[in-house]
Order: sequence, then structure tokens, then C-alpha cells
Amino acid sequence: MVAGLHPEPPVAGVSLIAHAVVLVGPPGAGKGTQSHAIAAEFRIPVISTGLMLREAVQRNTSLGMAARDSMESGALVPDELVCRLVEERIGEPDCARGFIMDGFPRNLNQAIFLEGLLGSTKGGVGMLALNIRVSQKTLLMRLAGRRVCPECGTNYNIFFSPPRKEGVCDNEGRALVQRPDDNEEVIRRRLTEYEKQTRPLIDHYSSLGLLREVDGNGSSETVTAAIFALLRAS
Ligand code: AMP
Repeated sequence: MVAGLHPEPPVAGVSLIAHAVVLVGPPGAGKGTQSHAIAAEFRIPVISTGLMLREAVQRNTSLGMAARDSMESGALVPDELVCRLVEERIGEPDCARGFIMDGFPRNLNQAIFLEGLLGSTKGGVGMLALNIRVSQKTLLMRLAGRRVCPECGTNYNIFFSPPRKEGVCDNEGRALVQRPDDNEEVIRRRLTEYEKQTRPLIDHYSSLGLLREVDGNGSSETVTAAIFALLRAS
């Protein structure tokens, strides 16, 4: 086979309105869940900086060692580390048709970096920022109630979507765990960081005409349907 002569397989029915979709809601807004729903529908990858950083910490790589302390305290990891990670990931072939960003950019500096990357590497193709809005009370219950299967990564919530058997994954039968940064003190710090650093992105994207608002308080299916309607190219 000669590389480049074979077109990509056609994508069933749906195409995306923008090349890069950025999710800018606060921690607990459902960005993880929604990004996976978007990925499945539009067949594009999710780039989750939180997930990539957690993997680096687990594997004890030099990035993981540099990021660990910030993550454990709920602070942001230094921009240069995260920006390098994102630049490398976006350059991979599976991102050529588009991608969803969960957890990046987290501040204005990162947003400007991303705009530079998209402008230079993708010929200036479009992006869209989705702000998933959720009440403070729901955010806290989602974060404090979140439990994860260490085997398959399925998310549960002890208040909203508990597993069939308490504390155990429905799929794997493994004991569910709580993310170390989902304890009350760290949650407070993450929400403060969001207010200080990430919320200003809403004005930034709004002034560029790239912001779309989504009500994230309903069931995950309702939120997903609203997002699909916004993202589908007509
Ligand atoms: P998340 O899974 O998106 O809530 O991210 C978990 C943690 O990873 C955050 O609290 C930060 O410490 C770190 N992190 C994730 N994404 C970024 C980013 N774009 N910039 C800086 N730190 C990040």
C-alpha cells in the first residue's frame, strides 16, 4: 500500500461544525462524560490533559514527577508542561479530522497557545468552545460523589448514578476508587482555580464569537442531545 493514496473511511452521516471543540465548564460539569459521547458520535479523539497527566503520574515519568505535587493539591500544572503535551498529541494522525479537548485550555495563556497551534498546524481551521453550565450544588455533589473503576475507567456517582452493588464496578466487579483530588479540600481548591484562571476564557471565547452555552444541569442524555444539536454541521 502506498501511504496517502487511500482515503479515510467515510464517517457515517454526521460531520462536525468545527475542527477543534473545547469544553470549558468547571470541574464536575460533565466534561469527561460529554467528551466521550461527542467522540463516539463524530468519531474523533478526546484529548484529556487531566487523564494524560494522571497516567504520567502513575507511570512515574519525568512529566508525572513534575506534575504530581500540583495535581495533588488541586493547583494547575505549569503551562509549559501541559502545552508541550498537547502540541505532541494534536500532531498525531488520529487528530487530523478534528478532536475534542477536555480540560485544556485552563487559562488565557494556554488558550492563546492553542490558537497559535491551530492556526499554524491546521491551516487556521475553526474551533468552538462549549461552556457546560452547572449549579454550584450539583458540581459539589458530582465531584464528591464520583467513583471510578480502576480497571475500565467507568465513572459512577454515589448520588446520581450508583453501581448496582455498592462500591463495585458493574462491568469488572472491581472495587471502585475515588480520585485523590476528589476530596473536599482539593475540590475547593480546584473550583477556586477554575474561577480565577479558567472562567476568564468564557469572555475570551465569547468576544471571538466562538462560545456556545449548554445547560449541564439535566441528565447526561439531555445534555448530550443539546451538545449534538449545537455541533452538527447542517
Ligand atoms: P481534570 O481531570 O481536567 O480535572 O484535571 C485534573 C488535574 O490535572 C487538575 O486539577 C490540574 O492539576 C491538572 N491539569 C489538567 N489539565 C490541565 C491544564 N490544562 N493545565 C494545567 N493543569 C492541568
